[in-house]
Amino acid sequence: MKPASFDYHAPPTLAEAVELMARLHEEGVDAKILAGGQSLMPMLAMRVARPEVLVDLGKIKSLDYIREESGAIAIGAMTSKRAAEASALIERQQPLFHAATKLVGHRQIRNRGSVGGSFAHADPASEYPAVALVLDIVFKAVGPEGERTIPAGDFFVTYMTTSLESTEVLTEVRLPVLPAGTGWAIQEFARRNGDLALAGVATTLKLAAGVCADVRLAAFGVNATAVRLTGAEEFLRGKRPDRAVLAQAAAMAANDLDEPMSCVHASADYRRHLIRVLAERCLLEAAARAI
Ligand SMILES: Cc1cc2nc3c(=O)[nH]c(=O)nc-3n(C[C@H](O)[C@H](O)[C@H](O)COP(=O)(O)OP(=O)(O)OC[C@H]3O[C@@H](n4cnc5c(N)ncnc54)[C@H](O)[C@@H]3O)c2cc1C
Repeated sequence: MKPASFDYHAPPTLAEAVELMARLHEEGVDAKILAGGQSLMPMLAMRVARPEVLVDLGKIKSLDYIREESGAIAIGAMTSKRAAEASALIERQQPLFHAATKLVGHRQIRNRGSVGGSFAHADPASEYPAVALVLDIVFKAVGPEGERTIPAGDFFVTYMTTSLESTEVLTEVRLPVLPAGTGWAIQEFARRNGDLALAGVATTLKLAAGVCADVRLAAFGVNATAVRLTGAEEFLRGKRPDRAVLAQAAAMAANDLDEPMSCVHASADYRRHLIRVLAERCLLEAAARAI
């Protein structure tokens, strides 16, 4: 299928993009931001989305950067996932985000798809939202009222919905550097390499004197948004991360999930089973990496 017709603008600066979005909104025009187009263009082609206007951020060079800033890694929203994958800074300082990026789609999709676009799209099967919850990623957005920062816990609202206003442009994704000695892992199950996950888990695990001091665990692909598995996190605090304890935590994580999604590819029970298996693998891997 072909998309319904739409008007197209490609403002050269962020200020012009924000001004244009605000004006269109005031005029009652249904306008949508276009980033890499890797999710939006198929949605237009299938006519799941039919905006009257597309505002393409592709010409705004100031949104394309990766830099270290006061203990964090700042990524401009229009930076491609391929650039994030190729960044030695991200690989060294934030290996969980790096590993998650390599799991997104195929290289062609990572070439075109932006880092910001994946977060703004908020697909529940995407790796990034779960990683955002585990790492406490912070988002920056600019709208007609100015700039604001949004912590990951307040960013993802429900299925493909974030707390961004329709006139706001996501401008930056801020990753905290992974503290030295923290273990991490991400595991997912997809039908084919490059497909969105049927279920997945991301984790970080910090030890102190041989016991778990801080564990972060989040699941994706199972509910309307990625979810923190806080029962399992709390259970692990103060415990030695031996195989039996980690298996118990993984079973707890799966049991604590709200009713998982069900579709032709995976029933709710199967997704719950996947989360138990993937959580156990993730915890074992993260514990082995923790010093
Ligand atoms: C075959 C295939 C496999 C895929 N596999 C995966 C996968 O395994 N994991 C995964 O996570 N994704 C996967 N994707 C999706 C892909 O990662 C997209 O790149 C990503 O979801 C959107 O990024 P984009 O830059 O292309 O955004 P677009 O498609 O241009 O936009 C997506 C949405 O975000 C909004 N948006 C984009 N940027 C901004 C911004 N700066 N501010 C405000 N709103 C914004 C748009 O308005 C739109 O609603 C896959 C896609 C395909 C086609």
